[in-house]
Amino acid sequence: MSEPTPIDFPKPTSITGGCLCGAIRYKVDFPSDHDFLNLSRTCQCTQCRRSTGSLFLLAHTVPLSGFAFLTPTTTLKNFNATPGFQRAFCTGCGSFLYWRDESRDDVALAVGTVDPEFLSEYGFALANASGDNVWCQNEIKGVTDGMIGKERGIKWATSSKEGIKM
Ligand SMILES: [Zn+2]
Ligand SMILES: [Zn+2]
Repeated sequence: MSEPTPIDFPKPTSITGGCLCGAIRYKVDFPSDHDFLNLSRTCQCTQCRRSTGSLFLLAHTVPLSGFAFLTPTTTLKNFNATPGFQRAFCTGCGSFLYWRDESRDDVALAVGTVDPEFLSEYGFALANASGDNVWCQNEIKGVTDGMIGKERGIKWATSSKEGIKM
């Protein structure tokens, strides 16, 4: 298989994923016109760092209408670090699953929770980081500044709404 590029890469029609303990499983059905480039984003804010334990969050925004839980959500908890913004995680294992602005009808999925068979086949479609890359003022020089597609996505100092392009 040739190396995927922003012009030519395999796109999934649906994916599944879940938390580490398996109590929470989800499915995503993508609309036929889903924009796999612009909807793949990263965030390096301190909230995302603390809630994921990772230096940046690789998120893929999916429509709420295409997102469904396949299991009961008894262990699903939302933490609001900022009012109106859900950070969903499993209380059984601690996996961070998604970030969601309650005023919008979409969900920013934590790409690391997608099942490995989909990541190996469609990882580029989900995690190309060609959309907004936010809170880049927090980049760690020599480490996270080289981890996103510099020639592709837009880098914002803070959020894409309020920030300054870097
Ligand atoms: Zn779990
Ligand atoms: Zn963030």
